Amino acid sequence: MDLTFTDRETAFRDELRAWFAANRPGEEPTHDEDAHYAWRRDFQRRLAQDGLAAVHWPPEYGGRGATLTESAIFFEELGRSGAPLPANVLGVLLAGPTIMAWGNPEQKERYLAPILSAEEIWCQGFSEPDAGSDLAALKTRAVQDGDGWVVTGQKVWTSGAQYSKWCMLVARTDPEAPKHKGLTYFLMDMEQEGVEVVPLRQITGEPEFNELFIDGARIPDENVLGGVGNGWKVALTTLMNERAGLGFSLQVRLRQLLDALIEEAAGRGLLDDPLIADRLGDLHLRTETLRLTAYRGLTAIEKYGQPGPEGSLLKWIWSDTNQQLAQLAADLLGPSALTAGDRWAYELLRSRGNSIEGGTTEVLKNIVAERVLGLPKAR
Ligand SMILES: Cc1cc2nc3c(=O)[nH]c(=O)nc-3n(C[C@H](O)[C@H](O)[C@H](O)COP(=O)(O)OP(=O)(O)OC[C@H]3O[C@@H](n4cnc5c(N)ncnc54)[C@H](O)[C@@H]3O)c2cc1C
Repeated sequence: MDLTFTDRETAFRDELRAWFAANRPGEEPTHDEDAHYAWRRDFQRRLAQDGLAAVHWPPEYGGRGATLTESAIFFEELGRSGAPLPANVLGVLLAGPTIMAWGNPEQKERYLAPILSAEEIWCQGFSEPDAGSDLAALKTRAVQDGDGWVVTGQKVWTSGAQYSKWCMLVARTDPEAPKHKGLTYFLMDMEQEGVEVVPLRQITGEPEFNELFIDGARIPDENVLGGVGNGWKVALTTLMNERAGLGFSLQVRLRQLLDALIEEAAGRGLLDDPLIADRLGDLHLRTETLRLTAYRGLTAIEKYGQPGPEGSLLKWIWSDTNQQLAQLAADLLGPSALTAGDRWAYELLRSRGNSIEGGTTEVLKNIVAERVLGLPKAR
């Protein structure tokens, strides 16, 4: 692992630091989900104007052609500045790279630019009521009809669907084929009859995700991505990008939150309490370990061209640490941490989902056991 920045990386970091200092995101709206989303969307537009909405994208698609280390620097500087993650996070981190890998020239021309500018928001229609960890068990059907497809089925936990123009949809197109082989990956227009978005209100009170009821929605042939029957491979590209991309932004957010918690503790004169100091010290250690593990993962990708199993380890330890951090905040603040609308109440409640979203902790532990430790396979 090499943690020394090159001259180019140092120059990039300085450029970003100056940009974030000159471009403050403004007051973060609280208590109004739509206003909060609009605030993030507006900030992404400003990033896009200066070519910073997706630094890891190649320059021909509006990115900076940043290396993985430079992308990590971007997320660290974004975190340091307190700016929000791009509103179109699933578009930037998942849909865009999947379209770049599998899309034809027309698809790249049509979809990539509005992802960057946050003009068209994307959601991920993978999970179903009976297909989460075992994604290939999905039942949503797409049937060929003339020069397009008719889709029927249900998706669930679809984050951001209420703001989305497009959905990365995986559907079964050949029910006779083995389960991983009969799938196709579609780019589905959400703005049509036949697609109903029903908000699911979470424990935090927000409808961050939704149910999608799809009843006779139409998708033209030109919106198949990567070929009919090839959906599993295309979906794996999306999932690999999910872990690799989120790994860095998650640990940066953790650092922001821990700094805020240390400030809260200091404000209450609690830093001298040895028990509190011990727990904060432990969280600091875990956060630093995560940062270094994220760098180790990047170094492996840069050297060998493949993401290693660090992504699973990172996601597992991050969710564990974030939940511990939110619990410590609740312990520190007492009943006020549970006041509706309070930042820490939100963090406490929201962190419960961390060990489910993007791969459950049990599934990640299986991956670490089998692929890192070489233990016998569970199945
Ligand atoms: C906040 C949040 C946002 C989300 N956003 C999206 C989104 O935008 N798009 C989308 O498609 N999905 C989204 N999801 C869904 C998420 O990907 C699934 O919840 C996750 O994959 C788990 O699937 P499941 O809920 O069906 O649980 P299941 O897969 O049914 O798992 C149930 C339990 O069984 C355990 N389990 C399952 N298989 C194994 C195994 N092999 N070994 C050991 N234990 C096992 C699990 O760990 C879990 O405890 C989101 C989820 C959350 C919480």
